Amino acid sequence: TSFGFKEVNEEEKSRLVGDVFTSVAVNYDTMNDLMSAGLHRLWKDRLVSKLNPFPGMKHLDVAGGTGDVAFRILETINRLRQRGLRQVLEDTLEEETRIYVCDINPNMLNVGKQRALERGLGGEDRSLIWIEGDAENLSFENNSMDGYTIAFGIRNVTHIEKVLTEAHRVLKRGGRFLCLELSHVDIPIFKELYDLYSFSVIPAIGELVAGDRHSYQYLVESIRRFPPQEKFASMIVDAGFQNVEYENLVGGVVSIHSGLKI
Ligand code: SAM
Repeated sequence: TSFGFKEVNEEEKSRLVGDVFTSVAVNYDTMNDLMSAGLHRLWKDRLVSKLNPFPGMKHLDVAGGTGDVAFRILETINRLRQRGLRQVLEDTLEEETRIYVCDINPNMLNVGKQRALERGLGGEDRSLIWIEGDAENLSFENNSMDGYTIAFGIRNVTHIEKVLTEAHRVLKRGGRFLCLELSHVDIPIFKELYDLYSFSVIPAIGELVAGDRHSYQYLVESIRRFPPQEKFASMIVDAGFQNVEYENLVGGVVSIHSGLKI
């Protein structure tokens, strides 16, 4: 199925993606819940549990949007602290936790900052740092991060390879790369149902809730164009990562790819 977006050039692609996230920055979280029936919350939980966050870590969440992944990482670390580990860790660690949320769209970041305050994660706690920036050209130093996550972000960038190379560059040795992305379903019947859902229901929800059918059609097209699991895994290897593997969730509706910088 095609909706006539095959000819979209790079400039047009950036503009369309920008439009989607500007027009939905405020409705963004509601839209996620609606379109995934709340499942994106579980998927993000899974991503963070694979990361194994620890107090004192330096972490970079790219395309971090309104902060969903960063909040989970910080809340996991805070729970570890509450479990009595705090004193031990503070005695042994001089380093403070730093979670950087990087996104190209300041509207998304502003919504995120507001949400952080509402969750009691802003203010005095300096662990969360919001930075406007491009995944393809990060402003962070080489070998500076213990972890890197990108959730529902890499599919819409112009050059996936550049994003992967940048991820590899900023990670320390031993640092983990994790990517959560809408991917490819390869199970008969379920695949047909999923196609029906994405080509009919998603644009309809987009029109109804965000008043923007066109952009949501584009997003569905972009899922189809994203490289399948195995191909994406090989791109991660090409960027220099080792121990590359992936896990499919809901039959491949989403997958979590991971790699280590060794
Ligand atoms: N990670 C968040 C989540 O899972 O809720 C937000 C995901 S949202 C679907 C995609 C985000 O990618 C948007 O906030 C958008 O602004 C951002 N984005 C798109 N292209 C980007 C780029 N080249 N560099 C950084 N962020 C980008």
